Amino acid sequence: MKAIRVSEYGGPSVLKLVEVPAPQPGPNQVLVRNHAVGVNPVDTYLRANVDNRGPKLPYTPGSDAAGVVEAVGSGVTDLKAADRVYVGGTLTGAYAELCLCERSQVHPLPLNVAPAQGAALNIPYATAYHALFNRAHAEAGETVFVHGASGGVGIAAVQLARARGLTVIGTAGTERGRRLVLTEGAHHALDHTAPDYLDGLTRLTGGRGPDIVLEMLANANLQKDLGIVAGRGRIVVIGNRGAVEINARLAMNKDAAILGMALFHATPAQLAGIHAALVEGLRTGTLRPVVGRELPLADAPRAHEAVMEPGHYGKIVLVP
Ligand code: NAP
Repeated sequence: MKAIRVSEYGGPSVLKLVEVPAPQPGPNQVLVRNHAVGVNPVDTYLRANVDNRGPKLPYTPGSDAAGVVEAVGSGVTDLKAADRVYVGGTLTGAYAELCLCERSQVHPLPLNVAPAQGAALNIPYATAYHALFNRAHAEAGETVFVHGASGGVGIAAVQLARARGLTVIGTAGTERGRRLVLTEGAHHALDHTAPDYLDGLTRLTGGRGPDIVLEMLANANLQKDLGIVAGRGRIVVIGNRGAVEINARLAMNKDAAILGMALFHATPAQLAGIHAALVEGLRTGTLRPVVGRELPLADAPRAHEAVMEPGHYGKIVLVP
């Protein structure tokens, strides 16, 4: 089968399309034929070995894909060849024609959801769900500020929060991004490149501030978030790309919580709950992953450049 392999850490050019043997499923494993593969910022950090977190070389990147079951191991009785599925994590890497998964990593893909949308699910939607409901304990009637709402996690957070009955305010850096944020369910959209955009947030919340901030770029915004969050508010740090200086007195004075989160800390029980909720949201149509761009698998280097550029509009997906 064709797969992208990384044999040395580095820039996008280390992503090489090669021919490798097709994996075979063990007893509790599922082999999935990928029709689409999701590209996430974390794939670029691992490729560049940021914080020494790169996988053992050589490896095939990617954790998100959707397609059909190719084969199942002897212990798998509830899935069969040709079933439509999406995957949340793999054993062999998603940037390939086939990927091998544990049974627990494979979830049904409802008929109303295209494979490219299925590939846009796992990291973005599971992260948004975990941040909103397992970390911030968001409740209907509260207000959430999605600071960076036009990207993969942001759009997921907007849809999930709106469906749960929160008031949703999101930001994007372009007019097109803000229109998308509104279309996907935000009550209001602000421009995080405008100098006075947080005044707009204060106005929209009647001077109180949002109960929850989902932060996609904490190194740029954490101090500002402490300034605008409501009393007893919760700020969830989802994305961060450098150091930031904060005045912790703001957190003291507001009884505010800064909550770090990384999806890889979610427990198996939390992941099972998250994916059960996501599948149901897909079935009912409250969750509608937005695909911005589809590229051939061989163009993985271009996809890695694009996923780190500003001006987001839906997910980037590779097609094997
Ligand atoms: P993405 O699709 O690349 O989206 C990035 C988002 O950040 C866009 O909405 C972008 O808006 C926005 N942004 C750019 N400048 C900003 C600013 N100054 N203030 C606020 N937002 C700004 O990435 P993603 O997949 O949504 O992930 C978002 C971040 O979370 C990434 O850093 C990623 O690595 C991280 N992440 C963490 C976890 C975890 O487990 N903690 C899981 C998934 C992702 P415009 O393009 O419209 O300017």
